[in-house]
Amino acid sequence: MPYARSGGELHVDGVPLARIADAVGTPAYVYSWPSVRDRYAELDTALDGTGQRICYSVKANGNLALLARLAKLGAGFDIVSGGELERVLRAGGDPSRVVFSGVGKSVEDIDFGIKCGIDAFNVESASELDRIESRARVIGRKARVSIRVNPDVDAHTHPYIATGLKENKFGVPADLAVELYRRAAASADLYVVGIACHIGSQIAQVEPFREALCGLLGLVDALGKFGIAVEHLDIGGGFGIVYEDETPLDLDALGQVLRATLGRRPAKLYVEPGRLLVAEAGILLTRVEYLKPAPAPGYRNFAVVDAAMNDLIRPALYGAWHAVDAVAPGGAPSKHWDVVGPVCETGDFLALDRELAVAEGDLLAIREAGAYGFSQGSNYNTRPRPPEVIVDEDGFTVARKRETVADLLRLEITTPERP
Ligand SMILES: *Cc1c(COP(=O)(O)O)cnc(C)c1O
Repeated sequence: MPYARSGGELHVDGVPLARIADAVGTPAYVYSWPSVRDRYAELDTALDGTGQRICYSVKANGNLALLARLAKLGAGFDIVSGGELERVLRAGGDPSRVVFSGVGKSVEDIDFGIKCGIDAFNVESASELDRIESRARVIGRKARVSIRVNPDVDAHTHPYIATGLKENKFGVPADLAVELYRRAAASADLYVVGIACHIGSQIAQVEPFREALCGLLGLVDALGKFGIAVEHLDIGGGFGIVYEDETPLDLDALGQVLRATLGRRPAKLYVEPGRLLVAEAGILLTRVEYLKPAPAPGYRNFAVVDAAMNDLIRPALYGAWHAVDAVAPGGAPSKHWDVVGPVCETGDFLALDRELAVAEGDLLAIREAGAYGFSQGSNYNTRPRPPEVIVDEDGFTVARKRETVADLLRLEITTPERP
């Protein structure tokens, strides 16, 4: 457990969170590296015997210092833009361990990926396959492709984060995939390397992953009839974590089922975890600016904090629930508070109706904020984004400085001139 109380005060890997707040101010993102490393090791062990490659999904948290540490562990990366590829390269990641997902890859994205020699484009449409083929021809280097199939599996998750149903925009149906593979296999500019899918996020059960893998194996058989073989099967990410009272995904059971389903097939298994590796490692550290207790019955108690929806949008965007802990609960009486930010939107809340003993000036930790926290952040209300701090066994370091208003205004021109 990276976050634990000692003497009543919340610590991360033995460091008091209050000390981090003193050093870098609030709001601030804090990530426990030992937690990420342990999660990675746990998944790696659970998948033993599948020829696994763990391609960390950069969009969950693209902090360069985190990526660099993951690269050192031998991780691959799942990216969704040229910008994320640049992050992986700067962090010292190996492009030959990168898979590139996403429905709208631009010509620039594709060229960059081909020139870097990425492991696979996870192709999401017939038109994209054509574009990759023609860019590979122009560049004079073969592109490695997987087709992302849509296995039509119900991941039993939030509709905004389900991606593997036939009504979702992602991937292609299995029957169309066979046709695309035949085209790719016949092309002088493409190598067929794998089959990919990604069925959703925050999945707590093993069964959807088994169904998805079965779908991919069915396609392997169909392709075999045309003499087309693949090196890897990519079942995507979406491994669920516990925010509130969800059933945790049993990684060992997942590993067993995937091993049994794969049987003696020679293909290697790829996974693309994002949230699983980083969510629990991170918190958003924030300070209470003002308390606005209910003036009369029928009103609510508001704790106005210095972090807002621009820093962590998940509650506003998905109605997501994040635990909130008082870092050093003092003598204040316990009440039910709505924890809200300074942004001018009614949707600007981090947590609703939480029992907390807080006073003005107290620190709060918004838990499980390491995934899709900073990475989905914005500058709405001209709010500079918070710093990112990484904690190791021997202390903490600032991995990204706090933005300044000057950073935000840098590209703007007060009196633009006509060209
Ligand atoms: C977002 C995404 C992931 C990671 O999802 P998590 O729920 O964070 O594990 C993996 N693969 C693809 C294609 C994605 O879009």
